[in-house]
Amino acid sequence: MEDVKIIKFSNCCLLRDHTIVKEDLWIRRGKILNPQTLFFSEKKAPDEIIDCWGALISPGFIDLQINGGFGTDFTHEKENVEQGVTVVAKGVVAHGVTAFLPTIVSSSPETYSTILPKLRKRMGGEEGAAVLGVHLEGPFISPLKKGAHDEKVLQSFPNGYETLKETYGRMHNVALLTLAPEIPNALDVITRVKKDYQKLIISIGHTNADMDTGLKAIECGASFITHLFNCMNLFHHRDPGLLGLVATVTDKPLTFGLIPDGLHTHPASIRIAHRVKPEGCVIVTDAISALGLPEGTHHLGVNKIDVRDGAAYISGTETLCGSIRPFNHCVKLFKTSTGCSLVEALEAGSLHPAKTLNIQKHKGTLNFGADADFILLNDNLDVIQTWVGGKCAYKNSAIEDHTFKYSVNFENSNNSYEDIFEKRVIRGSKTVYFNLNPEHIP
Ligand SMILES: [Zn+2]
Repeated sequence: MEDVKIIKFSNCCLLRDHTIVKEDLWIRRGKILNPQTLFFSEKKAPDEIIDCWGALISPGFIDLQINGGFGTDFTHEKENVEQGVTVVAKGVVAHGVTAFLPTIVSSSPETYSTILPKLRKRMGGEEGAAVLGVHLEGPFISPLKKGAHDEKVLQSFPNGYETLKETYGRMHNVALLTLAPEIPNALDVITRVKKDYQKLIISIGHTNADMDTGLKAIECGASFITHLFNCMNLFHHRDPGLLGLVATVTDKPLTFGLIPDGLHTHPASIRIAHRVKPEGCVIVTDAISALGLPEGTHHLGVNKIDVRDGAAYISGTETLCGSIRPFNHCVKLFKTSTGCSLVEALEAGSLHPAKTLNIQKHKGTLNFGADADFILLNDNLDVIQTWVGGKCAYKNSAIEDHTFKYSVNFENSNNSYEDIFEKRVIRGSKTVYFNLNPEHIP
């Protein structure tokens, strides 16, 4: 049955048009409504009013690079990858993520032919975040900048575009594709992919390319850089590498992923990228399967991993094995690393990834007509609630836990009376008092 209920979120602030405004948010049928149109043309009142207790409503976060989480690894759980995506979609809403791209690292053609048909796009809703398509990271990357990718499966383009088609098979579920542009024939491949799949975004990454090759890739249609700073040539004053691209004035769209987890990219590097091109910054978690798991030792596939102090290590060592920082924590760290405004930090997690995928009309925004994918946050950027497609997918139960009532007796020479207060504590910051005595409500 179609959900025609009108819900109004009141007593809140909204991020809209690059500013935080004190307005209500209205939704119906999974979309954000214009209350004025509703009032004047339909003469409708809300069916439900939700008191947000002063929370900030932001567009939901969109993670363009996530390898797994909650014990699941998308690349290595070939048979059960759909269930794995379901588990992660359900888990990440607690981090404010309303849409993501399951990311598959460099694999064999057999793996792609098993996994890719199963990773269909999903709408999202009560059951969790939306899936906007797959991010294929490799195998067409540089062996010199392979990072944690398996060298045995890396490939070049001996037959150009044909090699790419033979490797991946059908690509209708793919949203983002990371490759190294210096591989012979790569520039022609970028042009051909963009011709056949207009909506597919090409990213350059895990690359040994100099700045000129990077620029040529942008000219051919690449429009994203995968985890800037990680797995690429470092800045040199005569060849600034891909960081030089960030500083280049071009009429082509260009955004870049950053992993502000406090470990994989130094805060000063994040700050440099932000100073050079704030509108290009896209926060990604690049999270691994240990995301969302409690502290302790976990067996993940063939690996044993220790989770401690917000980081994941190869068991018994000090070697980091991937990021496990929840998305809202990355937004917080991005803000403190760059010293940017709250609006800029939230947009780097919502509007900028949406723009990267060219879906900013529907996602990454609270504009009228956009998808009702949004989050309620407190001052500390803790997630209070997450809504996906107009459905509540997550509620932080700590808020209810901290709600309690108490009474105060007042006495003066003329009379005495009792006021009953309700105190609600939104974890980490806001305390709101409600006087429940109807005579004393202002
Ligand atoms: Zn990578």
